[in-house]
Order: sequence, then C-alpha cells, then structure tokens
Amino acid sequence: MDKLDQIAQLLKSAEHGVAFTGAGISTESGIPDFRSPDGVWSRNRPVMFDDFVRYRAERVRYWKMRRALYHEFQNARPNIGHDALVRLEANGRIEAVITQNIDGLHQDAGSRRVLELHGTNRAIACLHCGKEWPYDEVLSRIDAGDEAPDCGHCDGPLKSRTISFGQAMPSDVMAEAADLSSNADVFLALGSSLVVEPAASLPRLAKSHGAKLIIINLEPTPLDDIADIVVSATIGASMQAVVEIIEGAKSDDAVS
Ligand code: NAD
Repeated sequence: MDKLDQIAQLLKSAEHGVAFTGAGISTESGIPDFRSPDGVWSRNRPVMFDDFVRYRAERVRYWKMRRALYHEFQNARPNIGHDALVRLEANGRIEAVITQNIDGLHQDAGSRRVLELHGTNRAIACLHCGKEWPYDEVLSRIDAGDEAPDCGHCDGPLKSRTISFGQAMPSDVMAEAADLSSNADVFLALGSSLVVEPAASLPRLAKSHGAKLIIINLEPTPLDDIADIVVSATIGASMQAVVEIIEGAKSDDAVS
C-alpha cells in the first residue's frame, strides 16, 4: 500500500481528525512561504511587536511591508489542497483546520471550522480601542502619504489583526487548538516547517496523546522522526489523491 493509500485508510477510520496547515499549503495559490527567497518575509527583517508599539519608524516599516504583502495576497485563490480539506470536513474525516496562515484562503475555499493561530491579514484594527477600519481605506491613506496610520477615533496605532513576533498568541484560539490536538486520533500537518513555536508544539501534543501523525511537506521537518507517515511531495496533488481514494474515486496521480 503506498503512503497516500495509508493516509486515506487512517482518515477513513478517524473520528477526530485534525488538519494543521502552514504557509506551504498556499504556495500553490501563488503566495510565497516564509523561506522563499523572493517572499516579502525573507526580504525584510520582521517588525517586533514591542518596537511597533514604541517607535513610529518601525510602524512605517511595518506598513511598507504590509502594502507589499497586500499585493501578494489580493489575487490569491484557494487551490486543490484547500479544496481537499473542505471535502474532508464535509465527509466528517476532519473536525477542523488549525492554520498558521493569515491569508484567509481556507475560509474562501469553504472550510467551516478554521482556527487562525496567527490572526488574519484581512482586518485592520486600532491597538488601543479595537475599532476596525476597512483595509482599502487604510491603504488609501498610506498611498496618500500617511506612512503610519493612526485610529481616527482615538489616535491609537492601527495594525493588521495578525500576530507579530513578540506579540501574545490569542489564548482562546490556542486553548481550542490544544483541545482539538490532544483529542485528535489523526493529525495531518501540511506545509509547515514545524519550527515556529508555540504552533509547532501542537503536532507533538497530538502525537503524545496517541494520534497518528502525518506530515506532508516538501522539506524535512524536525518532527519527521516521530511521524507515522511522512510524504515529501506537493500538498495539492497528494491531498486530492487522498480525498479521491476516500470518496471511492480512482486516483491516477498517486504520489508515494
Ligand atoms: P514555513 O515557510 O516556515 O514553511 C513552509 C513549508 O512548506 C516549507 O518547509 C516548504 O518546504 C513547504 N512547502 C512549500 N510549498 C509546498 C507545497 N506546495 N507542498 C508541500 N510543502 C510545501 O511556514 P510556516 O511553518 O507556516 O511558518 C511561517 C510563518 O509565516 C507562519 O507563522 C505564518 O503565519 C507566516 N506566513 C503565512 C503565509 C500565508 O498566510 N500564506 C505566508 C508566509 C508566511
């Protein structure tokens, strides 16, 4: 039995399957991952949360990067990897998608229960009063020369609703993700280098509570040694093949 058949069999008998996704699931939608040499992330030193709060110059740098990211994100559409997870949820094979991504593509594809560990790039809010501002309006202000936009309501700094380096993770989302992971019988880690903490601890948590750990990633990860199945191939073709096996369709493109 090849690896994709084995994954399909595990998911078929799963009662509490969970998918955990990283930037690698969105590269097939044209959004570079963290490590891609051309990505916004690798071209720029990230802005630390404390520096964002303290220094206007860092807020200016932050918004320059966000502006570039917006272009990278705005034309992206879900790909067959995102679609496969929608079908697994609809078939009752997974309970939820836990994602490190901020691009909103799981929701666009139609996944219903999506936990965003690192927030979303689709909303902008004031760090002081919490008021949300429309993305287009804030970008227009930046284009008109307001390099570090403040809240028109209370003068606090505006920031995308993403979690920056040094910023606390949303505790409610983390708690829900930890619950799902510790109850999981099959845990699918897709397209994550599994080095960013605390998110990378979730597959370890799932495994230590008895889940079968499946990793699909182009590069090796630090958790490959404890995984039950490791597939080094693209997520889209692999997951489409897995779903077709589960749904009874013949898979012509099996990757082993
Ligand atoms: P990462 O960039 O550290 O790792 C991505 C992994 O995916 C790599 O190991 C790569 O080999 C693999 N990969 C890339 N394309 C693949 C494909 N088609 N099939 C299989 N594997 C593939 O990503 P991470 O672990 O998610 O950590 C990056 C951090 O940066 C996250 O916290 C995330 O919030 C943020 N980020 C998000 C996005 C997004 O929202 N799309 C994009 C870049 C970075």
